Amino acid sequence: MFADRAKIIIRSGKGGDGHVSFRRELYVPNGGPDGGDGGKGGDVIFQVDEGLNTLTDYRHRRKFSAENGEDGKKRRCHGKNGADLVLKVPEGTVIMDAQSRKVIADMSGENRRQVILRGGRGGNGNMHYATATMQVPKYAQPGQPAQELEVLLELKVIADVGLVGFPNVGKSTLLSRVTNADPKIANYHFTTIHPNLGVVDLEGCRGFVIADIPGLIEGASQGVGLGHEFLRHIERTKVMIHVLDAASTEGRDPIEDFYKINEELKAYNPKIASRPQVIAANKTDAIYTEDNPLQRLKDEFEPQGIPVFPISAVSGKGVKELFYHVQKMLDSMEDKPTTFQQEFFPEDVLIRENLPYTVERSEEDEHIFIVEGPRIEKMLGYTNLDSEKGFAFFQKFLKDTGILDDLEKAGIEEGDTVRMYGLEFDYYH
Ligand code: GDP
Ligand code: MG
Repeated sequence: MFADRAKIIIRSGKGGDGHVSFRRELYVPNGGPDGGDGGKGGDVIFQVDEGLNTLTDYRHRRKFSAENGEDGKKRRCHGKNGADLVLKVPEGTVIMDAQSRKVIADMSGENRRQVILRGGRGGNGNMHYATATMQVPKYAQPGQPAQELEVLLELKVIADVGLVGFPNVGKSTLLSRVTNADPKIANYHFTTIHPNLGVVDLEGCRGFVIADIPGLIEGASQGVGLGHEFLRHIERTKVMIHVLDAASTEGRDPIEDFYKINEELKAYNPKIASRPQVIAANKTDAIYTEDNPLQRLKDEFEPQGIPVFPISAVSGKGVKELFYHVQKMLDSMEDKPTTFQQEFFPEDVLIRENLPYTVERSEEDEHIFIVEGPRIEKMLGYTNLDSEKGFAFFQKFLKDTGILDDLEKAGIEEGDTVRMYGLEFDYYH
């Protein structure tokens, strides 16, 4: 079955905990701390696989986890890093946060591989914490927690041109007139599945990819019928060929059809509805009426800047002219394919969710800010702020968790004092 949508849970690996141990050697009574660091948890990575064209693999399983990092060991042994989990998807897959539906990654164009969830950092072993005053550190840092997120995968095919129109106006017939010659596109051989793609090869031109969007009917934008399922495939198209049955072979009015379909598009996504359209006035071979429906279409649409091309998808008449015009339109447009920008950053959100904290200005002194959170201490473990490494980690922690941002939002100024984690320090930007 064709699957162009799947909802799964992904989970990165937890960082291994740092170890607490002390050197035990013959004739060495009080060995120093020698607990090793925990290994890093595996990342969850998405990668484009040219050989795939569906998301079927993700329909049979719900949860995908990377490996946890191993805990540190005695004798300064570092725990093994957890293996990354690489999830292969077809080109054109858009990864979204399932809850907000915000885009995390668009696996298309240059973007072949992206880390979506980072594994937790391994915790420092107690070997890092020996200081002049603390010779027997019985603390080690816990590994950072795993991150878990429910994501929605949607395959949005990459076509330059979409075919829209009521059922039976001749979209499939028109598509059957274009070739599937390009071997790269042959991967997308959606013959029994939808949408159908084809490559238009025009002499002396670059050619373009065209997608048939079947089943777009009234009510599709409200999820009635199949239309809704397929609408997402035209989100990337730059031009739409709006196919009309100029001969009214089923008794419908092509002008009314045009407006109805566009209303559907608008209800689904106004951005799609505003893309340039070209009208393919199809079935001209079957026009027997006295009045001239083609003239009626031209009078209605050309003043709106929408060109009307009379064609017969069955005989092929007029199809070349239509495609040459579409090619010209594409050539005049910016070459950039439509891609979806990242609007959800799991890193930020998850770290913040994992680590609730509050930032407050002290009531006694407006130059003192108090940061509190039950898990801050756990996350930081026994980080040694006297060491350069420990201090750098602490600074990064403030930034990654969003604590710095929140201090700024709360109005902190240069030289103000921050109290947190049993410490007091001055804020300098
Ligand atoms: P779709 O639902 O829009 O994909 O429409 P189809 O391509 O399946 O065509 C529906 C019907 O219209 C079929 O019976 C086609 O043979 C017929 N048809 C398509 N194009 C033409 C045309 O140019 N002339 C005539 N006379 N019939 C056509
Ligand atoms: Mg069809």
